[in-house]
Amino acid sequence: MAKTIREAGSFLLLFGVVFLFSLSTRSLSFTPVDNYLIDCGSSANTTIDGRVFVADDRNSFDVIAPSDILASTSLNSLSSALYSTARVLTGPSSYSFSIQKQGYHWIRLYFFPFVAQNYNLKTAIFTVSAEKIVLLQDFQPPSDSSILKEYLINVTSDRLVLTFRPSIQSPLAFINAIEVISAPDELIHASARTVLPVGSFNTLSEQAFETMFRVNIGGPMVTPANDTLGRTWIPDQGFLLEKSTAKSKSFTGNLNYRRGGATQDTAPDAVYSTAEEMNSANVANTNFNITWNFTVDPNFTYFLRMHFCDIVSTALNLLYFNVYIGDWSASRDLDLSALTSSLASPYFIDFVTPVTDKSSSSMRVSIGPSSIPGVDPNAILNGLEIMKMNNSVGSLDGLFAANPSLVIGSKGKVGLILGLALGSSALVLLLILGLLFCKRRSMKLKKHQSKSWIPFSVNGANSHSTVSKFSNATTVSSGLNSSLGFRFSFAEIQEATNNFDENWVIGVGGFGKVYKGTLRDGTQVAVKRGNPRSQQGLTEFQTEIEMLSKFRHRHLVSLIGYCDERNEMILVYEYMANGTLKNHLYGSELPPLSWKQRLEICIGSARGLHYLHTGSAQGIIHRDVKSANILLDENLMAKVADFGLSKTGPDLDQTHVSTAVKGSFGYLDPEYFRRQQLTEKSDVYSFGVVMLEVLCARPVIDPTLPREKVNLAEWAMKWQKKGQLDQIIDLRLVGQISADSLRKFGETADKCLAEYGVDRPTMGDVLWNLEYALQLQETAMRSEPDEDSTNRIAELPLRITQLGASEENDEGREGYGSAGPADDLSDVSTSKVFSQLFSTEGR
Ligand code: ATP
Repeated sequence: MAKTIREAGSFLLLFGVVFLFSLSTRSLSFTPVDNYLIDCGSSANTTIDGRVFVADDRNSFDVIAPSDILASTSLNSLSSALYSTARVLTGPSSYSFSIQKQGYHWIRLYFFPFVAQNYNLKTAIFTVSAEKIVLLQDFQPPSDSSILKEYLINVTSDRLVLTFRPSIQSPLAFINAIEVISAPDELIHASARTVLPVGSFNTLSEQAFETMFRVNIGGPMVTPANDTLGRTWIPDQGFLLEKSTAKSKSFTGNLNYRRGGATQDTAPDAVYSTAEEMNSANVANTNFNITWNFTVDPNFTYFLRMHFCDIVSTALNLLYFNVYIGDWSASRDLDLSALTSSLASPYFIDFVTPVTDKSSSSMRVSIGPSSIPGVDPNAILNGLEIMKMNNSVGSLDGLFAANPSLVIGSKGKVGLILGLALGSSALVLLLILGLLFCKRRSMKLKKHQSKSWIPFSVNGANSHSTVSKFSNATTVSSGLNSSLGFRFSFAEIQEATNNFDENWVIGVGGFGKVYKGTLRDGTQVAVKRGNPRSQQGLTEFQTEIEMLSKFRHRHLVSLIGYCDERNEMILVYEYMANGTLKNHLYGSELPPLSWKQRLEICIGSARGLHYLHTGSAQGIIHRDVKSANILLDENLMAKVADFGLSKTGPDLDQTHVSTAVKGSFGYLDPEYFRRQQLTEKSDVYSFGVVMLEVLCARPVIDPTLPREKVNLAEWAMKWQKKGQLDQIIDLRLVGQISADSLRKFGETADKCLAEYGVDRPTMGDVLWNLEYALQLQETAMRSEPDEDSTNRIAELPLRITQLGASEENDEGREGYGSAGPADDLSDVSTSKVFSQLFSTEGR
């Protein structure tokens, strides 16, 4: 009871604090030069907390949309009147704002999908960009609730264009309200601290930010009306990992702003006047932290602003504490007294950090006691802001850069004038024609770009700054393509690989040596250093960067970055701890993979290839699918690697890509080989060969064997046609495979190896069949031994043992299913071999 009264008391106190500050902040308000508040879809102004959102009149705003559709709902359970109307956008559209003062601007976008007369906004999926920054990619607002998205963008021109583009899946986009408001220049400082590694990040002003969490630690919600910059601060209770570790504290005196560097625009008084401190009462061991946990997208880097104000000490120099981001120390023995020379003085520290715990997508912030002897154990935090920073392609959502052909800037203005003159129907026609033209142009441009790379090491005029998530330095990307991955300096690569230590070499491929490396933040990487005399050379280097920068999937080996300094060609990949699939099948001392593991590996790689084939409008053909290009991570999860030979798939009006024959012996699609016509079915053929390798654990070409056995695909298919594939499986699998699973697997491989591409399945079909084969295996393993004996390969050991005596079988197994090496030609790419065969020199 006493506790309840105490809690009620502290709540009233907090309420009082917020109320008091709500009165004081208004008079001190920052006055934004640009201040656009629009109630989209509304024909009348709407006032929210004293702020007037004006009616959405396309004659007063620079709005370009295929048609003027203003929708409304009569739902009365909405959290704000702003959500009751929306502008419906049935094609690429834009709002354009004249900017009086360049610099930071808030962009706030309000979304609530409702069902209007002719439009169901719940089906809308769309992309929103602000100039070159992608704010939302293929965004589908939650169907039952409203959502407010907030961004902070440094506007560097006199016009800001917000573009809305419906996705291919849905013809609709919409927006309920927009704010575009100047923010104080000094809100974001030039640099921030980094934790991984310890250092500083010096190019904050070039970043765009999306607010992920803005938390009033130890205090209640603070609404836009009580913040000089119209921000919302939410309470921290929902983020506390262990609520009992924290005790809320509030302060009613005057804050001392002079010393700490923060202003009332940095965060409102209501934030600095409340905090969580360590709840050490009744605890014997005070060596604990208070931790807040936030779920974030691990693929981005984050800006963290921590707000401190010592409202707990009774005198200076009593409070020292530690601050952590994830498991990393962000500030040790933080001494606010020394930094502000007074109590109750608002202070903040900025950090830039990648997500330290990528597996759980969690960003943890902790505070805990200092270990300085004689200091009372306590720690405080008053406020926390977590903002996502744009990635190297200029996106805050996803991996694709803004589509320039659809950004309607000053051209849009021309469109508007014409549209007004010609009437809306003509404008629709113009837009459609314009878009078609832009699309064709961008397709042509893309084609052209992929063929005409500017030489590397371009650090000149049109260079463009990007920031590596893994380095604290700003690096300059080459002018050829600003949408590539992270660019490492040569020094960073040298450091990561112990100056290309020969002992750190983990492999050698056509491109050059591959080193294991460790970045400064501890990330393990595989570093491929291009051999200047390599046959594959620059084209593959560029293709690889281009492909991997665009395609990210859990079953494709990720490109972390590249280095083109000093004419080097270096690619940095995620490190795959278990190396190649091939190595696990034969030629090494590694323990054998079980049938289930092999099926899962096939399924993973099929998924990766399926994504490559279908993940983009044009599709990507790998062209060098082989067991050496399937890598396994620490959990034996398969990822497809080596896109150096990849090609974009056929255009819609063609059915194949003509190209010189490339790929590796033993895996080559005979049709491609004969006709030099490439389709994604060439990958399917090669994958069929990999499946046989997985089953039989032998090289795809083994010239040491009798003629009929040299080529795995031919030999295995002979057995498959006889219905006796079980006779040639890896000896180490004998007794493990259910007959049904093997049958399904064999049939699928057989189909992949069909003579003509048209008769082969798609990778999607292959994936489905492999999943089915796994299911059959698992079902068989679960059933009782004599429940369905015809379905079980339990019979196999016997049959195999019996047949093992036959000459055919004995020979077939020799050297395989064990660690015995074989003379294997599958590693030799045909391009290399052909260059020797066809070379007239020296022959
Ligand atoms: P080619 O380039 O001729 O097709 P390859 O695919 O074997 O041959 P690379 O991709 O350069 O050549 O790789 C050489 C070896 O380096 C691989 O066989 C593998 O052992 C190792 N390797 C490559 N990438 C990684 C990675 N991301 N993680 C761990 N090891 C890797």
